[in-house]
Order: sequence, then C-alpha cells, then structure tokens
Amino acid sequence: EGEPVLQALEAQDVQALLPTASAESNKYRRGVVGVVAGSTRYPGAAVLATGSALRSGAGAVRFVGESEVSAGVLAQYPEVLIGAGRVQSWVVGPGIGLDDGGQVAAALAEQVPVLVDADGLAALPHPVHRPHPTLITPHAGEAARLLGDPWTPERVEATRLAVVLELVARTGCTVLLKGSTTLVAEPGNPTVRVNPTGTPALATAGSGDVLSGLAGGLLATGRTAYDAGSVAAYLHGAAARELLRERPGRQIIAGDLVEVLTAGAVGTT
Ligand code: AMP
Ligand code: MG
Repeated sequence: EGEPVLQALEAQDVQALLPTASAESNKYRRGVVGVVAGSTRYPGAAVLATGSALRSGAGAVRFVGESEVSAGVLAQYPEVLIGAGRVQSWVVGPGIGLDDGGQVAAALAEQVPVLVDADGLAALPHPVHRPHPTLITPHAGEAARLLGDPWTPERVEATRLAVVLELVARTGCTVLLKGSTTLVAEPGNPTVRVNPTGTPALATAGSGDVLSGLAGGLLATGRTAYDAGSVAAYLHGAAARELLRERPGRQIIAGDLVEVLTAGAVGTT
C-alpha cells in the first residue's frame, strides 16, 4: 500500500460527489435508505438519524424499530416509511442499546451497503466479509472498544491516523473515525481523507446520529462508502459552520443540524 497520504476534500470535490435529481428521477431511483435506530431508552437517536437521512438526497427513508419508537419518528417525520422492506442501504446502530436481536447481523446479511454506528458497533463481527460497501463510524471510545486492550479513548485520540488504518486492517470495512479531526480510510487505498469542516460545536448529544443518517442516505444514492463518509463529514461540519455564521456563539443542538443539512447543495436540481 505504501505510506498513507492525507487528503482534505474541498467544496468543489464535494459538489461533484453529491447526488442530483433529474427529470428521470423518482423516489425509488433516488434510493431508499433503511434506518434501524433508537429504543425506548434512546428514542431520540431514531428521530435524528431519520431526519438527516431524509435530507441526504435519498428518495425515501424506511424506519425499522420498536413500535413506540416508530410512532415518535412518524410524529416528527410523516414522510417516513415504517417497517421492513426493500432498501438500497441500511444504517444500523444509533441508540439501539444492546443488539440482542441480531439487527446488525441482519443488515449485514442483505446485499446492500451498510453503515454501522454507535451501539451497533458492539455487535460488529469482524473482520467483516461481504462484497458490498460497509462503513463504520466510531468515535474514540467506540474505536478503543473495537480494538480492545490496551486501547483507550485517550490513546486513540493521540494516534488517530494509526488507529483509522488499524481499524481498516482489522475490520475490513471503510472507517470514518470521528473526533476533533475526522478521518476516513478504506481498504486498499493509502489516501486517508481528513475532514476540513469540523468544529467543536459538533460535540453535542445526537450529533453522531445525524452524521450516520446522512452518510447512510448517501450510500443509498450509490456513493461508495469512502465518498459517502467523507462527504457526510464535510456537510455535517459545514452545517454547523452555517449555523454559527448565522448566529455567532449560539449553542448548536443536533436537531438544528438536521434543519440546515445539505441546504443549497443537494436540493438544487
Ligand atoms: P458522537 O460522539 O457519535 O455523537 O459524534 C460526535 C460528532 O461530533 C462527530 O461527527 C464528531 O466528529 C464531532 N466532534 C466531536 N468532537 C469534536 C471536536 N472537538 N471537533 C470537531 N468535531 C467534533
Ligand atoms: Mg454516537
């Protein structure tokens, strides 16, 4: 593979990688993203991941979860489809709690791209062997847990580049390592993407759930895991910066990000 090379995406790179709708588009052709998220304990993760998936450029979002959680999602987003069915990608993990129902395994068994995040990462069988794009989005704590002893969140933070490469090697997945500088790496590619739009304002509850819905939605539109992850990280940070530009010093909450996500970028055609 050679030495790793760092690459920062620029606005025009992102623009070129965004899905666009055309006269031939319909909601199914634009891609349906399935979201498996939330639980009675963490119902909000389902709402946030679904909201950002709806704003990703995919044509529709299908939500799968406990009935009270589904009801909450539907109350917020009447656009969402409820219950299992055909999708072009799955997002599995935000707020699901312990995956005793095999939700991660079920998603990975389908012949479509899958994003695994948050609680879902604890149920990730690795290395993952599947011929479809598989993207994982750990924060430092989740990365440390995936790597096991003697890794700690602090040690992950101190050696982020080495960690993202190690996670790719160990899991066989495309890896988006979240944090102060988000990195995205994929198997067989020495170029590691560094997100230039991050801001500490993103360090707020539910922020990662918004990123997952967005990246998973981009997977449904046919982006590779590498492009979906790096474009999502870029737009997520850009959304926070847009909010701060509008109102300097404001405290951003994750739901604010959903509202401005991809504004003026995806929805142009
Ligand atoms: P999560 O921990 O899953 O809620 O995800 C947190 C989100 O906030 C991720 O997108 C991180 O990359 C981002 N984030 C957290 N801390 C920082 C920071 N200090 N600077 C920039 N982005 C951050
Ligand atoms: Mg998270």
